[in-house]
Amino acid sequence: MHFPQRALFFDFHTMPANPDVGKNFDLEEITSQFQKIGAEYVVFPARCNLGTAYYYTDIGIRHAAMQRDLLTELADACHRKNIRISAYINAGLSHEEGLRHREWLVLRTDGKTYTEDPLNSFFRQMCYNSAYGDHLEAMAVEAVQHCGVDGLFLDCMQTAPCIGIECLEAMEKEGVDWQDSQQLYAYNYRKIVNMATRISKAVRKVKPDAFLYFNGIDYEAQQEIGTYLEFECLPTGGWGYETLQVGARYLRTLGKPVLNMTGRFHRSWGDFGGIRTEPSLEYDCLYGVANALGTTIGDHFHPRGDINYPVMEMDARIYARLRKIEPWCKDAVPLTDLAVVMSKPYWGAHWREPEAHKVYLREWNAICAASRMLCELKQQFNVVSHASDWKQYPLLILPDYTPMEVENRKRIQQHLDAGGKILASAESGLDSSQNAFEFKEWGVDYIGESPYDPAFLKNGPEISEGQPDMPITLYDRGLQVKAASGSKVLAEIIAPYYNQTWDGRQGNVYLPPDRNTGEPAVTLTDQVAYIANPVFTTYYQCAPVPMRQLVANLLKKLLPRPLLRTPNAPSFTRVTATSQPGRRMVHFLAYLPEQRLKTCQMIEEPMIVLDQQIQLREDERKVKNVYLAPSGEKLPFERTSDGYVTVTLPCIKGYALIVFDEQ
Ligand SMILES: [Zn+2]
Repeated sequence: MHFPQRALFFDFHTMPANPDVGKNFDLEEITSQFQKIGAEYVVFPARCNLGTAYYYTDIGIRHAAMQRDLLTELADACHRKNIRISAYINAGLSHEEGLRHREWLVLRTDGKTYTEDPLNSFFRQMCYNSAYGDHLEAMAVEAVQHCGVDGLFLDCMQTAPCIGIECLEAMEKEGVDWQDSQQLYAYNYRKIVNMATRISKAVRKVKPDAFLYFNGIDYEAQQEIGTYLEFECLPTGGWGYETLQVGARYLRTLGKPVLNMTGRFHRSWGDFGGIRTEPSLEYDCLYGVANALGTTIGDHFHPRGDINYPVMEMDARIYARLRKIEPWCKDAVPLTDLAVVMSKPYWGAHWREPEAHKVYLREWNAICAASRMLCELKQQFNVVSHASDWKQYPLLILPDYTPMEVENRKRIQQHLDAGGKILASAESGLDSSQNAFEFKEWGVDYIGESPYDPAFLKNGPEISEGQPDMPITLYDRGLQVKAASGSKVLAEIIAPYYNQTWDGRQGNVYLPPDRNTGEPAVTLTDQVAYIANPVFTTYYQCAPVPMRQLVANLLKKLLPRPLLRTPNAPSFTRVTATSQPGRRMVHFLAYLPEQRLKTCQMIEEPMIVLDQQIQLREDERKVKNVYLAPSGEKLPFERTSDGYVTVTLPCIKGYALIVFDEQ
């Protein structure tokens, strides 16, 4: 089945007081716009988070002002133009229904049904164990059958833990102690996945090929119950520009079609009059394509049916650009040299328990920083959890806090046995006692927490390239370790005169470096490079370039011949490689989000990069021909003595797609 690659997603959350719902919807004109945009797939609400329906439901609450079977008519109009359409239903929020059925609401553990701020849409949430669960399931089936849509997008699946009577009784039956936070959240997670499973089964009974996606449940739990995945990430709407680089490289390992969901708003969802700059939205879409993902652009339809032509026209220009490069993107496979290990599934509803969430975030932040560093270094990588195989990666990165629980231990053992390499830092590799390293291949013995705060890094000659010849601050406290025999010490720890402490007389805050302790800061064995401090967490906090340069210097030892080399490419550029039968593609992106005043991350124009050299490892392939897509303009190429094909691009404005045709 070909899964749509270009989609549009419309919110339609409409207050019950709105008098004009559906009034001026010109469906012919609207779907002509979709066609001009080149959308293959649209999502539009059957029922919004206000709880009112936009089709002639027999079981839900029709919006009082609606005088037509809106979604059904829209689905017809889309199908006439060969555009697929799914119905959106907000599962976790349904305010009008919750208002009329207080017994359908989540009763929080503090005894409240409404949380404090009613201007936050999540103040009132629905409980799937109440009669609402049956109602939701029935409405999902009704919407699919009545409106004739191709599938469902179920939003806000994640709801807060509930101690309403149905939940209490269900927990008692399962022996769950609800006053134990871990047990309560674990039960709540099962309850949410169970609701999604019910909907999935019921809908597939009436429409076996339905597109199904459940937003708010971790992606790995959707293997059976869903059809495809969407990565909701509006960089300027609260997600930031760090999220997609991890999400893209993780979701593409899960074996399902993925849509990269961005939005047209200057701020976030519901910003009716907010519009992003075109280069900013274009960057998100190209970023997805460069990572082998489809695209969906989020919008909010006016309740009356007014069309924002500037938005539609901008979407059309961006999608026209994607359509032109589609031949080189269709079914393209990302190429990678290495992987960052993420031992916990991307959170969804899974890691919400407050204490567990702290543990999760510590690991997640280090993973984000590792991904950011690797992007800046133009490395080709995936982010891998237990849901995918690690065997294809000659190098694994274990950033700062990768625990050696059973599955990680087993996989790392297999990786080492197969001769694989590892870059680990800080606590990554400590065994479950947290008093020793799990594997002798780490080449270090654990002594304890570092006594130095701060410590300073003294690089040895083997890893001094690009580093200032001075003691470099390690801002976050690391471990004190001893090099085991056979392990080479590449950098040492310099101690400060005194630690950052309050000694009763002075707060010690001016902390110059003093003496070289001779203790290892960085070690290397045949298979493992180990850094004693949490350099990825430090990079997450304040991005000191010497931390990235340290990682770069170690990568040169562990992976001396990376797939791509881009000498002097600016750090903000992003470069990815993909493959189709008979050719490989390199996507080069030059856009730079700029912090503008208090909250805005702005991309207002693409950046220009001059005389950029790109070197692709040739391997057993034989490059015949290199050209730019879609123009077909040929690029002269040369071969280096160490097996790379080299081209130089005189001028890149924002984006370039370089195609290496092979025999
Ligand atoms: Zn409940």
